[in-house]
Amino acid sequence: MTKKKAQKKTKAKKSKVTKKKKTTKKTSSVKKTVKGLDFVYDPAPESKAVVHIQNKYDHFIAGKFVAPNSGKYMKSINPATEEVLTKHAVGDEKDVDRAVKAARVAYEGVWSKMPAEERGRYLYRIARILQERSREFAVAETLDGGKPIKESRDVDIPLAAAHFFYYAGWADKLEYAFPGKSVRSIGVCGQIIPWNFPLLMAAWKLAPALAAGNCVVLKPAEQTSLTAMLLAEVLQEAELPDGVVNIVTGEGPTGAALVAHPDVNKIAFTGSTDIGKLIAKNVAHTTKKLTLELGGKSANIVYEDAAIDQAVEGVVNGIYFNQGHVCCAGSRLLLEESIAKDFLKKLQKRMKTIRVGDPLDKNTDLGAINHKEQWEKIKTLVDQGKEEGGDFYQAECKLPSKGYFFSPCYFAKQSGSSLISRLEIFGPVLSVSTFRTPDEAITKANDTPYGLAAGIWSEKGSKIHKTANGLKAGVIWANTYNKFDPTSPFGGFFESGYGREGGLHGLLPYLEVK
Ligand code: NAP
Ligand code: MG
Repeated sequence: MTKKKAQKKTKAKKSKVTKKKKTTKKTSSVKKTVKGLDFVYDPAPESKAVVHIQNKYDHFIAGKFVAPNSGKYMKSINPATEEVLTKHAVGDEKDVDRAVKAARVAYEGVWSKMPAEERGRYLYRIARILQERSREFAVAETLDGGKPIKESRDVDIPLAAAHFFYYAGWADKLEYAFPGKSVRSIGVCGQIIPWNFPLLMAAWKLAPALAAGNCVVLKPAEQTSLTAMLLAEVLQEAELPDGVVNIVTGEGPTGAALVAHPDVNKIAFTGSTDIGKLIAKNVAHTTKKLTLELGGKSANIVYEDAAIDQAVEGVVNGIYFNQGHVCCAGSRLLLEESIAKDFLKKLQKRMKTIRVGDPLDKNTDLGAINHKEQWEKIKTLVDQGKEEGGDFYQAECKLPSKGYFFSPCYFAKQSGSSLISRLEIFGPVLSVSTFRTPDEAITKANDTPYGLAAGIWSEKGSKIHKTANGLKAGVIWANTYNKFDPTSPFGGFFESGYGREGGLHGLLPYLEVK
């Protein structure tokens, strides 16, 4: 063999080895093996390059980015990697006061005097820019909050734009919304939102408030303020008059300062029931209007005549969607006794195919738990639930070595007074129980301090109507779950809060109607 030939052979051998290595790396990515099924998914990550994240963000007040009075910034963590993503300004009473003053000036001087159709035009503009920048917003939401990219891409961002489009249409038709009545805006609204749907919750609150002619100070959740700050850029791009929307980032005390500010006319809050109650107490002696969207422990009722495979899919979507970080999650499954055993078998089989992992991967079904404290809360409650007894099932998922991940699980055969069946866990944890008659299903579904949502699965319309009439919940889905639309009102009974967001009803809390 000549020297040249020998070199060529060694090169070829080497490249074979490298190829082999590469292939091994690829297939080891996401492998799901269920009896009789064997899937291999290649990674399909969305690019981070589409979004530019600054090292730190200031408040957005009177149309400009302004440094916090305290000079303090808080870290925002990517829950899938535990890396610091950026920093946000920590707002204090002075920052809140500055923002409320800016909102008041904008309200008195510009926004309340502007012809309604012009207000609508700004909202359309915001909606269109959100659509244009949707990919960037989806990646930012996923990096910041850990939710799978397919959810932020297909649910959060399109729905946020849809809310701006929907309420843009109402801006110049308010007199038709409430025929025979005269309506006018309220003034300055303080809006406080949680971390589970950051941009969408901002849109739910901003769009109706602005359409009705109010100005706003928004306080995003400390863990997920990134898309609110990108939204501030959108508002600038849309040339929204200065001060119409102000965004003050920070922690609980920042929200408390907004609630306490004497020149705020209305508070809209979405978050935990405990903080909701505290806010209700703090505004009770004032003239402030208040709407509260709080927690839930919603029941998903499956009758024996339901299309079982669809119901399994709906139950999975109801509780494991967005890692169970959904106030209306179907966290209590009520199964008709005759189908319970078979249903749970099918549910287990489906749970084994749920892909838990990198939220930026387009294949991922269940991403990262939003932040460390929430991960710890879920873990503690599940551990306590195991001690309480009953049947526990958790899908065996290979979790990433870093980040806050939790495999989907359920508890069955526990008593109705167990922690798991009563507390809002806000994670991928399902509580399962059974019933024998529709009346028992209704009684069990209503046996909770909450009343946000419910699901009913049956092929009989009459049974669905009878059950729905008996349920004390603000939203009821039939043969589907977790479907949202800007035209539908959303809100709860009892400890799930009061007031409605979305649809025509969502305009009411932002208007004085005479
Ligand atoms: P949270 O602790 O109540 O926080 C919600 C918002 O309130 C955050 O921006 C928070 O700031 C702020 N806040 C905290 N303490 C405050 C105070 N004393 N005064 C005024 N504002 C204050 O709730 P979360 O943990 O973010 O969210 C999870 C909860 O929200 C769950 O219970 C869930 O059910 C509920 N939720 C309900 C709905 C609904 O529509 N019904 C929707 C989503 C979530 P920090 O971020 O700095 O704490
Ligand atoms: Mg974060």
